[in-house]
Amino acid sequence: MANLGIPTNTLQVLEKYNFSFQKKFGQNFLIDTHILEGIINGAGITEDDCVLEIGPGIGTMTQYLCESARFVVAVEIDKNLIPILNDTLSEYDNKIIINEDVLKVDINELCNKYNEGRPIKVVANLPYYITTPIIMGLFESHVPLDSITVMVQKEVAERMQVGPGTKDYGALSLAVQYYSEPHVIMTVSAGCFIPRPNVDSAVIKLTAHQKNPVSVRNEAFMFSLIRAAFNQRRKTLSNALVNGGINTTRDEICKALADMGLSETIRGEALTLEQFAKLSDLLSHA
Ligand code: SAM
Repeated sequence: MANLGIPTNTLQVLEKYNFSFQKKFGQNFLIDTHILEGIINGAGITEDDCVLEIGPGIGTMTQYLCESARFVVAVEIDKNLIPILNDTLSEYDNKIIINEDVLKVDINELCNKYNEGRPIKVVANLPYYITTPIIMGLFESHVPLDSITVMVQKEVAERMQVGPGTKDYGALSLAVQYYSEPHVIMTVSAGCFIPRPNVDSAVIKLTAHQKNPVSVRNEAFMFSLIRAAFNQRRKTLSNALVNGGINTTRDEICKALADMGLSETIRGEALTLEQFAKLSDLLSHA
């Protein structure tokens, strides 16, 4: 099959199958060989790797992955794409195409089955409507991960990298930085896709930490604090936590903040990851 990174080849496949793009699935297919090569190089794919690709589309990036990796597991929700993928990827026997919603698949089971539970690399041009649940799901379900290299909306890539005191800092920044080291590989213009998305994009690599950068007794509790803090980010941290259904009293929160040398009126957006971990240890009853 011809290289689908070349726009005329993609157009031919779309025409052959009379394919209609489904907006609800965030379908914007890559048509730029330089970007595709940049993703494969940035992800550092080698012939030892088992790669999970989320949303292969018509198989454009999958072709590149099958050329570089040992094995590729591609999970695609749109059943209309499955016959196309079987055609465009027919020459590769180092892949499996799974017609499922990635948010419902047991990825740990896939890792066990296709990579004997060893760390996988995730590579994807993500459907933007579910970027955060996909990334959080991979981290929180403790899938054995080497890295996640993904195309996301440019502003989401920025959110993943920033620290306290900036408007983009939030639960996603803290979760990404707790589990990984983020690094933007490149920005990508809308013209590199068909159809063109309404936003600019960026490829970001999240390299999983061997060891979490802060230690915390109850990770799940820390993330419930973080979510409550940013659900009402204009409120003081103590108000946001009291209103956010955290099982602690205002007095306990104020005492913990005082123990940490922080003001009662501080907002969650001012706290570092280390401070959220400390606060979690002081408030957790577990
Ligand atoms: N990888 C292809 C490319 O780069 O040309 C397509 C990328 S497109 C931005 C996103 C793909 O994810 C689409 O093929 C879409 O059908 C698929 N998708 C959307 N939601 C999904 C889900 N919940 N689970 C699996 N795939 C999904």
